[in-house]
Amino acid sequence: MPPSITFTADSWENLKTLSEQAYPFEGCGLLLGPFASEKQVLRIVTLRNMLKEEGRGRFDFSFSPKEFMEAQLAAEKQQLDVVGIFHTHPDHPPRPSPTDASQPMLAGWINLIASVHGGKFKEAKAWWRDDEQKPFVETALIVPLA
Ligand SMILES: [Zn+2]
Repeated sequence: MPPSITFTADSWENLKTLSEQAYPFEGCGLLLGPFASEKQVLRIVTLRNMLKEEGRGRFDFSFSPKEFMEAQLAAEKQQLDVVGIFHTHPDHPPRPSPTDASQPMLAGWINLIASVHGGKFKEAKAWWRDDEQKPFVETALIVPLA
């Protein structure tokens, strides 16, 4: 069974806000929570989508492994673990794209994809794959009731 992921009311609101702020580009970042087998999101840190600097980033994203590691170390100092990676799909459904499938860094993490339509958060889904050879499978995303 792939792991499920749970948001708090605050972290869920934050996810929506950050997703909308990234529009019309793809936003990306890390989902942080306690060190535990249950993956719970307490905080979110955004990472730079480096493709924006190359005039891309509308339908793809890439972050710097160095920035990823620095964010992970900063989180550990606050007793927080990386419980997942998120990125957004502007005007596209929250399904892994062929570009996502070709990213080995996305394996072994819960991948949350947030769909933003016309600048407004629409929906999100969580995906998992054990390694880069396997297809993504949808996993449970537990969000507080509005
Ligand atoms: Zn994607």
